[in-house]
Amino acid sequence: MPKVEVQNLSKEYAGRQVLKDMTFSVQSGELFVLVGPNGAGKTTLLRILDLLDEPTSGKILLDGEIVNYSAKNKAALRRKIGMVFQQTVLFNMSVFDNVAYPLKVRNESERNIEQMVKKTLELVQLNGFERKNALALSGGEAQRVAIAQALVIEPELLLLDEPTANLDPRNVSIVEEVLSYVNRERKTTIVMTTHNMFQAENLADRLAFLNEGKIELMGTFQEISGKLSGPVKSFARMENVFHGFSKITAEGTSIVDIGGGLQIEAAFNKVGNVTLHVPPEDIILSVRPLISSARNTFEGKITQISDMGHVVKLKVNVGANKNFTVQITKRSFNEMQLNIDSKVYIAFKASSVQIK
Ligand code: ADP
Repeated sequence: MPKVEVQNLSKEYAGRQVLKDMTFSVQSGELFVLVGPNGAGKTTLLRILDLLDEPTSGKILLDGEIVNYSAKNKAALRRKIGMVFQQTVLFNMSVFDNVAYPLKVRNESERNIEQMVKKTLELVQLNGFERKNALALSGGEAQRVAIAQALVIEPELLLLDEPTANLDPRNVSIVEEVLSYVNRERKTTIVMTTHNMFQAENLADRLAFLNEGKIELMGTFQEISGKLSGPVKSFARMENVFHGFSKITAEGTSIVDIGGGLQIEAAFNKVGNVTLHVPPEDIILSVRPLISSARNTFEGKITQISDMGHVVKLKVNVGANKNFTVQITKRSFNEMQLNIDSKVYIAFKASSVQIK
């Protein structure tokens, strides 16, 4: 049975259509991932699913019931929904009180609150943090508190906007574990956005690719990965994917041998065969050797140039048949006077490297 049905949904802001005639359903117990470039409409869609914003036209059904946006209807339906926003906003009080807050609003008994907060903090691996002030936490810990706040009410539908953006690999893996646990064990329906295609592939039952307010593709990863093309392919993270053997360095990072004498340093510590992804927009390109703190620097030659409007995509061969796709603005492209066969230098940080 569908948990959420979206029918002919459109949203306009000041006469501009941000979501265009969208129709899709999310099944009960499904983990549904929205992927797409910035500005595609992902946050707008999540806010509408959270009943914070109303569509301009079209409708939403939750558990088969049409959302009519009366105060009573919204209040009843929102009790089933937990949302984690991109910007975490925690209160200047203890971790315990932050997580307890949604339960207090619901007039839960002190005893229930105590138990539910304890259970939820254990779930996000923050037991022992109860008395700490939430504003003194690291970014990753704060994000886990925000997730605990959404989970403590045991929502039937959990919405998350880029829950792992800007987190270090350890926090990313804790968050992924939590999401997959509640989806599997509590049968919580999850709709989330991500920029990390490996994450989407690992977590999602189904994915939808949003571009300019429309769903361009929808299905399981296997169903759609072969159909990706053009701009969809680039934000689907199908470029800059490398396979290799990873070893841990003395500093606790990883060096991955990707063949042909090339190595990539990454900010995780894993031994064995891995698949890596380097987002094109995280790569710095220069016509001069780079003096940079970035751990990964390569010399290469431009083999392909694609004009994408205000950005230009370049394929850079760094030897041994290995290519990086790099994305730069049209302006820097013109300033650097680049052409096919131009010699260039690329660099990226160890923390930009994503692992499968
Ligand atoms: P995404 O989450 O995919 O990056 P958003 O949903 O945030 O995309 O934004 C989609 C488009 O809608 C953007 O062009 C954005 O500027 C516009 N938009 C979002 N919210 C508002 C708003 N409150 N008022 C006007 N325009 C908005």
